[in-house]
Amino acid sequence: MRLVQGTSVSPGLALAPVYVVRASPAEVPTWSVPEDEVARELERLDRALDEARRELTTRQKVVATQAGEKDAEIFGVHRMILSDPGALAQVKKTIREERINSEAAVQALIRRMEQMLGKLEGNSVRNFAADLSDPWRYVLDALMRVERETIASSGSKVILAAAELTPAVMTYLPRERLLGVITESGGRFSHGAVLARSFGVPCVVGLPQLLGRLEQGMVLAVDGERGTVQLRPGEDDIRDFEQRRARRLARTEVLANIAAEPAVTADGFRFGVNVNIESLRDFDGFDRTHCDGVGLLRTEFMYLERPQFPSEDEQFRLYRRVLERMEGQPVTLRTLDIGGDKRLPYFKTPPEPNPALGWRGIRITLQWQDLMRVQIRAALRAGANRPLRILLPMVTSLEEIQLTHEIFDSARASLVEQGHEVEREVPVGMMVEVPSVLFTLHELVRHVDFLSVGTNDLVQYLLAADRDNPWVARLYEPQHPAVVHALAHVAKVANAAQKPCAVCGDIADDPAIVLMLLGMGYDSVSVAPHFMAEIKYALRRTTREQARELARDVLACNDCESVRRTLSAARARLHAD
Ligand code: PEP
Ligand code: MG
Repeated sequence: MRLVQGTSVSPGLALAPVYVVRASPAEVPTWSVPEDEVARELERLDRALDEARRELTTRQKVVATQAGEKDAEIFGVHRMILSDPGALAQVKKTIREERINSEAAVQALIRRMEQMLGKLEGNSVRNFAADLSDPWRYVLDALMRVERETIASSGSKVILAAAELTPAVMTYLPRERLLGVITESGGRFSHGAVLARSFGVPCVVGLPQLLGRLEQGMVLAVDGERGTVQLRPGEDDIRDFEQRRARRLARTEVLANIAAEPAVTADGFRFGVNVNIESLRDFDGFDRTHCDGVGLLRTEFMYLERPQFPSEDEQFRLYRRVLERMEGQPVTLRTLDIGGDKRLPYFKTPPEPNPALGWRGIRITLQWQDLMRVQIRAALRAGANRPLRILLPMVTSLEEIQLTHEIFDSARASLVEQGHEVEREVPVGMMVEVPSVLFTLHELVRHVDFLSVGTNDLVQYLLAADRDNPWVARLYEPQHPAVVHALAHVAKVANAAQKPCAVCGDIADDPAIVLMLLGMGYDSVSVAPHFMAEIKYALRRTTREQARELARDVLACNDCESVRRTLSAARARLHAD
């Protein structure tokens, strides 16, 4: 079977050679090497060996000066082991006969050595066996780096294939070189998926054991609409694919005309369509005049891109830049939402058995208050005389909001005392993404200026289905009656308190869902920029009464299937006329 069915997480079509990337240093990719490239593969291995020897020499020198010649001797021994012609001959034989890449052949050698190690008796013999395999790990490291450098410098545009859809995979190559991403696992609402959508890169996940079937450079057709990946498409498939791509392009042109129009319903109601962004680079992908503001600035990605915590000044400059780029339109800055799968390499938190229910978002920043304080100071300075709003992630209780207000007040006071110009009236809002707040929202809403529903998390917590776990991907169903009732409830509470309410989770990518939200009483959504035009298209041909009727119909559904059917009928109506 050359057509593999997975789960679509980001729409679009891509036809290109694949580049298989390892998901973590512990994983070694395997691909087959065509007969006429075996010699080149053997040269790659030789180069990696040289590099490993150089690395061992450097380490020997460093250890010799820091700890003494004796401790450094082991590196010399390792270098000698790498010169053993027997082991090298075995690796080369595997490459030639099995026609696999050097990484996989070296890994096979290490495995054989480790198996041998398991059979040996006595510690000293075992240690000796470990010494035999260890130097080959340097070769593996060198190969992986070489591999990365080759792809990084080649400049070619590729479809990236990896084991898992992580933010690291999504940022492995510059965006302009990334035509598509496919991964063996990963949920539709994982952070990697969020990035794929915001980059506008077609992406399909849930393709178990796919990597073993791919060869480096094999041509693939990735269909981010149907969630399929075709290996080595034939001429007919390519023709069909190109036709669909042309139709999609035509649709894009229709939408391009709508993108600049305001998001006004057919009966004249102005609905807010904002963008979700992660970094300054995102500004290259949209025209700010097409949106009403930044509805969600996920600041953690600005932290993720750095080797250490950004200083107050560095953050100030970043936020200021975002506000400047928006030229007077509001920017909603969400405070640091790390934890879960968004881990900072320089902020090591203990491993948690259940990270989604663990130390994340405001739970971290209120415990390590310096994190919150520095970010708030930077934000208040950047927001001076500019329309900045602050959004708090993962709020669970009133105490968290109150404590945050205290930190705000003291940050503001000390900034003023230090002679900084600050914004005094910065609206502070909360994300609605922890289900318990649904029951206390009538009280919480009084302590914040606006609400923004994070459906990516709300759905996972409400349905007890991990957004990143492919085994429960089917249970993670935003079109679930419980979710729509929760959404309606939030709008009702916000409307009664006369506070603005938005949805910034990815559920709002879907124009039919946006109409339902409008009907429920939401006043805006925030989405990855390229979804704005479809949403405006939907809003501009719907009246508020029609949206209310849709919301009523969806709320009357008792099961997921009826919710899906009702929304799908609304979608079909949009495209019928
Ligand atoms: C959400 O949970 O819906 C959300 C917008 O936040 P994130 O995806 O960054 O967790
Ligand atoms: Mg969230």
